[in-house]
Formats: sequence, structure tokens, C-alpha cells
Amino acid sequence: MDQSVSVYLHIPFCIKKCNYCDFCSFPIDKFLVEKYINCLTKEITEAIDTYTIKNVKTIYLGGGTPSLLSINQLEKIIRPLLKLKFEENYEFTIEVNPKTGNKNYFRDLKSIGINRLSVGVQTLKPELLKLLGRVHNVNDIYKTLDNIQQSGIENLSIDLMYGLPTQTLEDWENTLNHITQLDVQHISTYGLKIEENTIFNNLYKDNYTVLPNEELTAKMFLLTHDILESNGYKHYEISNYAKLNKESIHNINYWNNNDYYGFGLSACSYINRHRIENSFDLDSYIDDHKKNRKINMVTNTEFEEDAIYLGLRLFQGLNLQEFENKFKVKFLEKYRKIILKYSQYFYVTKDYISLNKEGMLLSNNILSEFIDF
Ligand code: SF4
Repeated sequence: MDQSVSVYLHIPFCIKKCNYCDFCSFPIDKFLVEKYINCLTKEITEAIDTYTIKNVKTIYLGGGTPSLLSINQLEKIIRPLLKLKFEENYEFTIEVNPKTGNKNYFRDLKSIGINRLSVGVQTLKPELLKLLGRVHNVNDIYKTLDNIQQSGIENLSIDLMYGLPTQTLEDWENTLNHITQLDVQHISTYGLKIEENTIFNNLYKDNYTVLPNEELTAKMFLLTHDILESNGYKHYEISNYAKLNKESIHNINYWNNNDYYGFGLSACSYINRHRIENSFDLDSYIDDHKKNRKINMVTNTEFEEDAIYLGLRLFQGLNLQEFENKFKVKFLEKYRKIILKYSQYFYVTKDYISLNKEGMLLSNNILSEFIDF
């Protein structure tokens, strides 16, 4: 395969579980980490040979908390990938928890080829950080961002959360206003969803009144758009904002419904219209990384639904000609009824159809109509 690929590597270890988290992550255990790294490198090496991967355009080290690993451990994980040819403008991201890392660590990340850091800030209100069960405080956030900026890494992204229990519009506005004072290139903003099997679910399943209601959450979404856009961040995807040319190349690859490779516990790959899902069970993954792996062929209908669902998440929208070439059907004709029903939320040009910001707010309802079509 000569095409450049995107690679996701999952590191499922954290200091402790956050109260809202349903990601595949476990409290760190040194002994397990070593075993896990051995399995992960084996899986990567086998895939490179099986799929004859030669070129790489993006790597994303996510989790969990990959910044809990030492530089030696990270080097060991990425070693099999170093025999591939990296595109000139490759993007190599690692997720960082503000409780981890120091100036030297971030400098060392740069020296092993990592050029983008994504920091899990979530909020700048101390009470809300505690309520989320984050292990870091506000000082840790500022210190970490400063250390990263001094390390010479120039592409910095941060994650924020809104719609939190007891959070007011003013709380959210304060966080956004402070964040825009910092020199970060990319901001992801996620509305809280209470997931099953989380501490939040136990705490709030019978007491939803402390959660911001739909109206307040909508105000938070629109305020985010206004504050970040007026501070030079382009709203390029429902949850994502970037300074000029600083969009996440790795995530755009997902939204464009292109192939990607995922390695590690719970990781998912999408290769030649096949979805490959690794086990979520740590013991079984360590025993044999192929154990309990699920492989499903993506049907034509699913392929088309994915293209719509993912394409309309982007502000640029869905490319009409590309859609027609791929699916041999004219999008505007086939889905005319839905487009007319929600006409005030769509923006149609000669080449693209996209949702406006109010449409983005209703995207769950609108997009589900395409899936049920
Ligand atoms: S740091 Fe991230 S992955 Fe780890 S428990 Fe918290 S939210 Fe989950």
C-alpha cells in the first residue's frame, strides 16, 4: 500500500478514573504497562507487514493518559513505525494530562518526533475540576501549558467540557475568555454526556436537575462559537475550532471517512471497507492481541450513511460531486425531503452542502433522519 496512513495508538492507563469517563482506561500498574507495550508493538509490527504499509501521515497517541509513559516506553512503542516513510508535514499528537510531564519531558517528546500536544484541561473552575474527578488543579494547567510552550512544541490543542453539573453560563464564558488569552492553536469543546458505568451516572441518574438543561447547553454551544470565532478560531467541525491551518489532520481523516489503523486495547481500524475492533478486555488483549477481535464488512448502506454523518459534522460540509462519484446518486435529489424539512439549517453551494451553527446544534436530530431514511 503506497497511500499514506493515519495511525491511532491506545494507551489505556490513567492515574485514576475521572467521574464522567467511560473510555477504556485503568489505573496504572507498572507491571501491566510493560506487558501491554510488548503486545502493542507486536500488533503494530504484524500490521505493517500484513497490510504492507509504507507511508504515514498522522499518528495519534491517545488513551487513557499516554503522557504517563516514560520517553523510553514511548520510543519502544513507536519504533516499529519508524521504518515507515513519514510525510513531510506529518502530524504526531500525544494526549497530555496536566498532572504529568515537565519541561524536559516535553522537550524529549519533541526529540522523538512528536509535534502536537493535546492537553485535557476541561475547565478552569477549581470546583468543577474537583467535581469531574480530575487529578489536576488550575495551577497544574497553567504550568503545563507554559512548560509545553517553552519546550518548542508549537502545535497545542486543548480539550474543554461544557454542560457540567452546576456549571453556569458565566463559568463557561470565564473559561473560554481565559483560554483565548493563551497561545493555543486548537480547541476542542465537548458537551458532557452522562454515560452508563460511570460515577456520574450513579450520582445523577436520579437527579438530573443539577445538570444544565437543553436551553442552557444550547446557549453554551452558541457562546463557544461566538467567543472562539471572534478570537481567530475557525469553527471547522461541530466540536472543534482551530487557528488558520491548525485543524487536526488526524481527525479530519476520520471525518472524511478515509481508512485508518488503530492499535491497542479497544482500538478500531477501518481498512478497505472493513471495521476491525480490538478487544476491550485487558487480560485477553495481553494474552493475544487478536483474541476477541471483531471484523465486520461495511455494507453499501452503512458506507453511504457514514459519509453523510461524518461529512456533515464539518463546517465545510459534504462535497456533492465526490458523493455522486462514490455512490452514483445525486445527494440533493435523493435526500430532498430532509433538506427541505430543515432548509433553514442547511447551506448549499454549487459544490457543498453544510449545516449552519444552529443546524450543528440540532445535528443529532437532523443526522439521524439520514440514517433512518
Ligand atoms: S484522564 Fe481521560 S481517559 Fe483517564 S480517566 Fe480521565 S477522562 Fe478517562
